[in-house]
Amino acid sequence: MSKKPSRVFIALGSNLENPVSQIQQAFDELEQLPGICLINHSSLYKSAPVGRLDQPDFINAVAWIETTLAPHDLLNALLGIEHRHGRVRESLNAPRTLDLDILMYDDLEWLDEKLTLPHPRMSQRAFVLKPLMEIAPDCHVPGYGHVAQLLSLCYEQKLEQL
Ligand code: ADP
Ligand code: MG
Repeated sequence: MSKKPSRVFIALGSNLENPVSQIQQAFDELEQLPGICLINHSSLYKSAPVGRLDQPDFINAVAWIETTLAPHDLLNALLGIEHRHGRVRESLNAPRTLDLDILMYDDLEWLDEKLTLPHPRMSQRAFVLKPLMEIAPDCHVPGYGHVAQLLSLCYEQKLEQL
């Protein structure tokens, strides 16, 4: 029997090699992955880098997909897309051609050495919460709270909608 599709939100980020087209291409590639249906995606946002400031601004967005892939299979598929975009893992907060993070997978709360769900830093990042709010305003982040409430706590983080 086939698995009921899960509702998943994915954060996309890029700040190297034409970030806008990296993100737009990634939407297309997500849609083409077997076992994934792209339901909607946010508009693109521009944000200042976090943690390491000597790098270009980021372009960010959030995609809403439905998938029959199990969480770790989905993560591996996303790492495959990152790899095809020439992603090099240098260090935390380093510049990147494409970053794809699983924000939430249904209401699953999960922690192992490969995968943490919900994504551990999403609740403090306006560049994730704002695009998420745009496409899923009623969203509740398991263990953290309502997206609107979390976003209101990030009011000092500047974000430009493109
Ligand atoms: P970051 O996105 O935090 O800047 P990376 O993209 O380099 O860092 O990811 C490092 C590792 O984080 C990945 O190899 C993956 O195993 C792990 N990881 C843990 N939880 C998640 C998640 N929810 N989504 C994506 N990657 C995750
Ligand atoms: Mg990542």
